[in-house]
Amino acid sequence: MAKAEETVLEIDLNALTHNFEYLKSKLKKNTKFLAVVKAFAYGSDAEQVALHLQQLNVDYFAVAYTSEGVALRNAGITKPILVLHPQPINFKAIIDHCLEPSLYSARVLKSFISCAEKENQSSYPVHIKFNTGLNRLGFWENDVDYIVSQLKNNSSIKIVSVFSHLAASEDLSEKEFTKSQISSFKNTSKKLIDSLNYKPILHLCNTSGVLNYPKAHLDMVRCGIGLCGFGNSASENKNLKPIATLKSVISQIHLIEKGESVGYNRAFKSTAFKKTATIPIGHADGVGRHFGNGKGFVFINKEKANIIGNVCMDMIMVDITHIDCNEGDEVIIFDNQHTAENLAESANTISYELITSISRRIKRKIIK
Ligand SMILES: *Cc1c(COP(=O)(O)O)cnc(C)c1O
Repeated sequence: MAKAEETVLEIDLNALTHNFEYLKSKLKKNTKFLAVVKAFAYGSDAEQVALHLQQLNVDYFAVAYTSEGVALRNAGITKPILVLHPQPINFKAIIDHCLEPSLYSARVLKSFISCAEKENQSSYPVHIKFNTGLNRLGFWENDVDYIVSQLKNNSSIKIVSVFSHLAASEDLSEKEFTKSQISSFKNTSKKLIDSLNYKPILHLCNTSGVLNYPKAHLDMVRCGIGLCGFGNSASENKNLKPIATLKSVISQIHLIEKGESVGYNRAFKSTAFKKTATIPIGHADGVGRHFGNGKGFVFINKEKANIIGNVCMDMIMVDITHIDCNEGDEVIIFDNQHTAENLAESANTISYELITSISRRIKRKIIK
């Protein structure tokens, strides 16, 4: 692979294919696959990732916000797109772009029905979200009668799926809780479906749900982080390949004498001679200040170099006293060996946060 000459985020579509096939190998033949490509496909490149998955014949896509769905339609995505978290102000745009809303409360259900009627829609595809314990979004079990009553009076919408979201599918110490969510979802969805004369798709599992709760796959699964190459456990990470590599270069090397300081607020004060490298990536690029002052690190010529002092907006300084390297040499912030998950842990965060934070100003390079 070409050496980086500036900061670049490489997205490996072959690794994406591998992860998709691996996750699919966990499913029964008829179970559908929804790819969650919200937040720029977890900080990578939503359009390129979605187009690639569309070629691999994924069944469904999901995004969080309406604007993300519109961008996918404009990029040529023709598969159905579920918008997980729309607001009433988005409903006309949702219909205009053939996006499918998650209806998660009486307020949004009522509002979507009136928009669909105004736009002369019939059987417009919608998804009903139930809350089964995450307590974030969703109808409660005792809202079923209300939903049914709203559907009785009109034919403008049709429920294509019923779903819920697990709170702790990666946490095996919460197995009992997860099982209670699974059975609560089964009961609630059955209650709703019994009063319809058709059968919507049922779905519940995210990546860790797919890996840890095979009996809960139901009709479809929703994977995001797994497609990016993380399985939320050491054993599953071995089966997946991180799709993103974040690389940069050494801009300048400084020789620091004992007693000198490095960076803003003089946060690092040297107690001995040091060699430092300045690298063009900072908190505006997604390497937050919590990675500063010895917590985070990068790799230069295969050696680990700790971040010293405060993370700046556009730069970090790292300790290369022990590393044989030159200005212009490549720097690995994360790749498939030095993973984003490892780096995230150094600052007490998770892979999801680190990879989704990589700013848009960093060039994306697609590897096919
Ligand atoms: C983000 C999200 C997912 C994907 O979860 P992963 O852990 O990344 O696989 C699935 N379902 C919902 C409702 C989500 O918000």
